[in-house]
Amino acid sequence: VYHHGAGLKIAIAGAGPAGSYLAARLAGRHQVDLYEGQKKERFTSICAWGTARGGASELLRKVGLNFDDYIFHKGREMYVSAFNNIYRVSAPELVTFDKPRMLLDISKGTNIHYDTFVRPGDIEGRYDLVVDATGPYRRVLGPAAGDRDMVLPTFQWLVKYDDLPFDDFYIEPFNSFSGYLWYFPLGDHNAFVGAGDIWKQHRRRVEAFLEKYPPKERVRTMGKPIRVAAPRSVFPHTKGNVAGVGEAVGTVYPILGEGILPSMLAADMLAESLEDLNSYERSILSKFSAYDLSYDYIRRKLSHTDNLLNSLIPAIRIFLWFKRNFMVTGVNPGLWETFKVLRPRKKG
Ligand SMILES: Cc1cc2nc3c(=O)[nH]c(=O)nc-3n(C[C@H](O)[C@H](O)[C@H](O)COP(=O)(O)OP(=O)(O)OC[C@H]3O[C@@H](n4cnc5c(N)ncnc54)[C@H](O)[C@@H]3O)c2cc1C
Repeated sequence: VYHHGAGLKIAIAGAGPAGSYLAARLAGRHQVDLYEGQKKERFTSICAWGTARGGASELLRKVGLNFDDYIFHKGREMYVSAFNNIYRVSAPELVTFDKPRMLLDISKGTNIHYDTFVRPGDIEGRYDLVVDATGPYRRVLGPAAGDRDMVLPTFQWLVKYDDLPFDDFYIEPFNSFSGYLWYFPLGDHNAFVGAGDIWKQHRRRVEAFLEKYPPKERVRTMGKPIRVAAPRSVFPHTKGNVAGVGEAVGTVYPILGEGILPSMLAADMLAESLEDLNSYERSILSKFSAYDLSYDYIRRKLSHTDNLLNSLIPAIRIFLWFKRNFMVTGVNPGLWETFKVLRPRKKG
């Protein structure tokens, strides 16, 4: 089916970070149709809109955009509340940004069809390659096999304050790493206050925060599932002429729920190996192996099977990974803070 020379005929379902970035990277070289379920006028992205400036700038340059044009708030620190203390973690790369506007701009030069919801079986026969970039839903590939996939419910408020309760990023990890609450400043006295939690305490925790720090205005709520399972726990990645990319194949950092840059990175990797899906899958598994490690770590916490022996080495590896990848995560933790936050906890 492959038409070398003229390029491939490719359909991409979903214009989030993965799908829009992939379409922009392939535009001009292949014949690409990008399908997005939302209407253009109401297009948004249910997400806390936080990312790392260095990593985002580098990826956006490749599609001719300047990331700084989208920044709302530049971070210095992230306050982490744990064990009745607030730890300050250096986060000079962490920013919030106008994610919907950035996604609209990335898709501008592509052949995008808004208001078009792709269903399995709809389009596979009409294209050389169909890409499932539908995030947590895997609409084309279908549910992940086995029982290791994990998708958490989330809930957040967009709020407006007279006096902001924190001048920078703030998070509250829950017991046993079942999820966390976030407060992300958006500039202009706006902020997202949200949470995700496997034990479904997220709404209660958000409400408790908003009662403790009442905003001037509650603007609107939003929520959507987030996949925290890593690539090795979300198979298949490919099926026939369909390939998954982004959150659909688990490129979300499990500890922070950070999926924007890794999903764009995964799209870049697919753009490089379009004609060899096996090699694409191998490169995803190797590039994101630290995510599998972190996901295993969280699963041990959740099942209370963590102890110093099985947690210390992974905690050190996770710490070193953060240090090395700080342009992608935006967070540059100190050793002591990491130990405090990641140490094994009492049960319950
Ligand atoms: C509440 C919340 C807060 C988050 N905060 C952050 C954060 O601060 N920083 C961060 O890095 N990550 C965050 N994440 C994770 C991040 O949003 C995602 O991991 C990332 O956007 C994944 O990109 P994606 O392109 O793979 O999928 P998505 O962003 O999920 O995009 C999928 C797109 O596909 C469309 N779609 C779905 N089904 C179909 C269909 N059948 N046909 C056509 N279109 C379809 C959707 O409308 C959507 O536009 C958060 C997630 C949630 C839920």
